[in-house]
Amino acid sequence: MEHYNSFSKWIRERFPFRVQKISVDAGFSCPNRDGSISSGGCSFCDNRTFNPSYCNRTLSIGQQISDGKAFFARKYPDMKYLAYFQAYSNTYADLDTIKRRYEEALACDGVVGLVVGTRPDCISDELLDYLERLNRQTFLTVEYGIESTCDATLERINRGHTFECSRRAI
Ligand code: SF4
Repeated sequence: MEHYNSFSKWIRERFPFRVQKISVDAGFSCPNRDGSISSGGCSFCDNRTFNPSYCNRTLSIGQQISDGKAFFARKYPDMKYLAYFQAYSNTYADLDTIKRRYEEALACDGVVGLVVGTRPDCISDELLDYLERLNRQTFLTVEYGIESTCDATLERINRGHTFECSRRAI
């Protein structure tokens, strides 16, 4: 018996079919890479290693999802997909851009929701209001990269935010 609620168990309870995350590189940037906070990024940051081979920012979101579906096609016949905005900081843009990119993914056949990875300092009340509305229409989870509760560690890895920032975002 598991003494914790694993993500795979939690998600199985939410869908009557299998779901697979398909990573999408939607062309967002990151304030810890573009010079707003720093240009060096977190010490572990190498988005090439985060992204699977079918995930390519030079292609449209629709094409990346289509390639991702082909990649996973033989796993389960009834499988559906969550578009996983994983690369860089996927709430780091103006709201119209964010909406366009999320909604392009949701319009793809077989996509039943979104998983959005971002930094805790890339969130605003306006964006949270939009995410709340979106969450009434579709499955949505937001992953904040917290990385540590220890400010000395956050500084050492050049994270560019404190744990207090994560606490506030949550
Ligand atoms: S927040 Fe993510 S994209 Fe930005 S520098 Fe850190 S690991 Fe890289």
